[in-house]
Amino acid sequence: MKQSFYNLNFNELENLLVENELNSTAASLLYNWHYKKKNFSPCTHNISKKTLNFIEDRLDFKLPEIDTVHESSDSTVKFLFKLEDGSKVETVLIPFNNKYSICLSSQVGCAMKCSFCFTGTQGLKRNLSTSEIVGQFLQSWKWLADNRGEDKRILNIVFMGQGEPLHNFDAVKSACNIFLSKNGTSVGNQKITISTSGYLPGLKRWKEEIPGVNLALSLHSPFAEKRNELIPINKKFKLEEVLSYIDDIPLSKKQFITYEYLLIKDFNDSEVDARKTGELLKGKEAYINLIPFNPFPGTEYQRPTDSVVNNFKDILSEYKIPTLIRMTKGDDVLAACGQLNSKD
Ligand code: SAH
Ligand code: SF4
Repeated sequence: MKQSFYNLNFNELENLLVENELNSTAASLLYNWHYKKKNFSPCTHNISKKTLNFIEDRLDFKLPEIDTVHESSDSTVKFLFKLEDGSKVETVLIPFNNKYSICLSSQVGCAMKCSFCFTGTQGLKRNLSTSEIVGQFLQSWKWLADNRGEDKRILNIVFMGQGEPLHNFDAVKSACNIFLSKNGTSVGNQKITISTSGYLPGLKRWKEEIPGVNLALSLHSPFAEKRNELIPINKKFKLEEVLSYIDDIPLSKKQFITYEYLLIKDFNDSEVDARKTGELLKGKEAYINLIPFNPFPGTEYQRPTDSVVNNFKDILSEYKIPTLIRMTKGDDVLAACGQLNSKD
């Protein structure tokens, strides 16, 4: 039975070669070929016949296939990927200054069932493998090069697509290792952000195991009752406990914590909500991203007006917390993060 090359982080690949009495230096050659140069076909250069035979017998290089592509008027691109078992997940490329951020999915569906989230409505189907996560990146990169020019780059990676990344910890960790590998795509660790709804078992592993990437917490309300309604796992993993774990994460210079706040009309967008949020986060090394709610078919929540959003931001600035309003991109193709659903 062959295993996927794209499931192997660099150390695992080296070990596999050594275990099979092959020269471990082929690992950097292979990483360079597939991740740096982004070749999709197996490497045939500078590699011994013995290693070549091993690769042919034991490794496969299949990647998720692009099923459909939607390009929106603001250059956002939404891909629907078809996985080997027929499941579908979405990936979004978000343009900024002629470069792109990629929003990756980590699961098919999501078990957390947040009330405002289109993905959450379908429940969890399964975890993605490392190769299915890395594959979204490589295929999107190739699509960009083929369709928008060789010079187009993906500079930031955010785990904000379908799924709760910390609920699929091992695969997400391994994918981060691959993205960070100096022999491979060599993405800087300050360029990767993992967003979580506050899944505590994953956060408990963060400090030891996640290699210096940025963390975003979906806060959405400082009040337990409201947060319980929005993010049901808040009943199990209470916000105070989640925040104290996050406070304990030692941050390197370029690392930061983002608190995401989804603004829903007449639910969590009042002055009282803003002030309580300010009180909760003041003094922390924090950024806040305000995300006006993106409606989807069947939801009862609504997006607040721009003036309410701006007012919320102004109140937070009194607490000296840098706050950005995350503009929704790709609205016209239902591509904004948080509107992803595999059903269509
Ligand atoms: N599961 C992780 C990451 C994926 S969701 C998490 O919850 O953090 C990524 C972001 O999109 C989260 O901040 C989430 O709250 C937000 N989101 C989900 N549904 C949304 C919607 N309908 N409108 C706007 N943002 C949404
Ligand atoms: Fe899952 Fe995040 Fe959606 Fe909640 S917001 S259901 S954690 S993907």
